[in-house]
Amino acid sequence: RGGQTQREIPFGRPDSLTKVYAIASGKGGVGKSSVTVNLAVAMALQGRKVGIVDADIYGHSVPAMLGVGDVRPTQVEEMIMPVPVELGALGVAGSGDGSGDVGGLTSTGGTGGAAGSATGALSVISIGMLKPRRDQVVAWRGPMLDRALVQMLSDVYWGDLDVLFLDLPPGTGDIAISLGQHLPNAEVVVVTTPQEAAAEVAERAGTMASMMHQRVVGVVENMSFLPCPHCGPEHRLEVFGSGGGARVAATLSARFGYDVPVLGEIPLDLDLRSGGDVGRPIISATPGSVAAGVLGEVADKL
Ligand code: ADP
Repeated sequence: RGGQTQREIPFGRPDSLTKVYAIASGKGGVGKSSVTVNLAVAMALQGRKVGIVDADIYGHSVPAMLGVGDVRPTQVEEMIMPVPVELGALGVAGSGDGSGDVGGLTSTGGTGGAAGSATGALSVISIGMLKPRRDQVVAWRGPMLDRALVQMLSDVYWGDLDVLFLDLPPGTGDIAISLGQHLPNAEVVVVTTPQEAAAEVAERAGTMASMMHQRVVGVVENMSFLPCPHCGPEHRLEVFGSGGGARVAATLSARFGYDVPVLGEIPLDLDLRSGGDVGRPIISATPGSVAAGVLGEVADKL
């Protein structure tokens, strides 16, 4: 707290080989964290070394969605070790026992800061983990948020990552500026629902990222439709209206002068919600679902 000399952020270097994706949204509750988690798991299951920085001050729900909500990071000398996620426990067929309970954390062996080595790996650090007490309410403001972001990027031993995801707080606040300063190479994925009001604020979030010279690589529309439980999946109930994702993509494309595509349209899915609640992301727990299929396609496009 205060006064420490700042370490370099490895991912901010121009020669960094780590792909950095910042997942942004205009408002909360549109599924930004769910998308982040599922894309990260998809990539880790493909054999990549993936890290997630949960910088969503309002939500910080990423650890729970990965089943490590109660795990605290360990510290080795000056460095914080990110919490490793056991990929086999995420609901994949033939999986292990699940819970990442406290105490089973110290055996990452110092190789890369993430569990596993030959295949993919996933580790996470959350702004919630930096609080002294879990139930503590912190009124994060600009400079403090900036410090927390820097801490999660430079004081955490990430090792060599192929991909780093940042789950951003919703909106267009200070974190966009921090991001532009510390991670100039980050590419931005904008998440929105089909709803007019959500799309409008999502456009603003995308524009903010672009003002910080970050490329917006695409838009994910979430909660796009509900496959009708009575008539069958071809009947789509448009619970939140339609067109928000396409609208954000078209507006940002026109504004930036390059193509910002809609990367996917994810339906409302009970398993997506319940999987997030119990730490079993749909991409691994229910891979045959339409929602998991779309998430997998989005991961392939990144
Ligand atoms: P955000 O990060 O934008 O605040 P979350 O990812 O936390 O949003 O999602 C908010 C809530 O909506 C969570 O309970 C999540 O499980 C649920 N949710 C998100 N996407 C879907 C979806 N496609 N179908 C059903 N529930 C969803």
